[in-house]
Amino acid sequence: TRAITLNHVSKTYPHNIHAVQDFSLDVTPGEFVVLLGPSGCGKSTVLRMIAGLEEITSGELLLDGEWANDRTPAERGMAMIFQSFALYPHMTNRDNIAFPLKLSGRRDEMDARVEATARMLGLQDQLDRYPGQISGGERQRVAMGRAMSRRPTAFLMDEPLSNLDAKLRNRLRTEISQITRELGVTTVYVTHDQAEAMSLGDRVAVIRDGVLQQVDDPRTTYARP
Ligand code: ADP
Ligand code: ADP
Repeated sequence: TRAITLNHVSKTYPHNIHAVQDFSLDVTPGEFVVLLGPSGCGKSTVLRMIAGLEEITSGELLLDGEWANDRTPAERGMAMIFQSFALYPHMTNRDNIAFPLKLSGRRDEMDARVEATARMLGLQDQLDRYPGQISGGERQRVAMGRAMSRRPTAFLMDEPLSNLDAKLRNRLRTEISQITRELGVTTVYVTHDQAEAMSLGDRVAVIRDGVLQQVDDPRTTYARP
């Protein structure tokens, strides 16, 4: 699990769109940091620069203290989780979880890893069913299982709950919090929902118009009921 450091990072898209400006943030190993802000403020761009899916225009990204601007997404070894669960409907849950392992050619360890991941997520009985045959909560867990099976150095989550109804969202919020902390994996989580940010984050980084406004610790900033 990784320390992620952004030093004075900016991103300018073509036609002079300054999506992120002079953004600096230190995420310590195992920490859960939320990027909070309205749509279009640059949250996804920050996440995609950390993942290596978007080039950094200026500034630097350090992973465990080492300069990483030029590393490929694969070399960074992070798991992205998006709002659509994006499971393969024609594959069993087992094959969905195993898919990244097949891609990286780890056939030998694959079965054991899939079983261990399913056990951790309570999905043992769902492995031979298809995504369409399980609940929304279980589907999100399969998606996390697929992201976890490669043992990522960090989780990068982009509004993973935003397509769900309120009841499921609350339940999965708790699950995401528990699973990431159990694994002790560094997590950067993007949302526009303040309540979600406050309940999930060890720290909450508030972004507006591409600029980091403040970084709060919700446990000290806000009284808990
Ligand atoms: P958020 O995740 O907070 O909604 P984004 O990072 O997606 O914000 O977008 C930040 C700004 O950058 C927005 O103005 C958006 O229109 C612009 N933007 C995002 N992606 C691209 C792109 N590929 N090309 C050009 N502009 C983009
Ligand atoms: P969860 O706590 O994951 O949301 P639910 O309480 O919704 O689960 O569902 C309980 C059980 O019913 C699950 O184990 C699942 O196998 C089954 N189930 C739920 N929704 C569906 C569905 N849409 N299609 C098939 N089976 C489902």
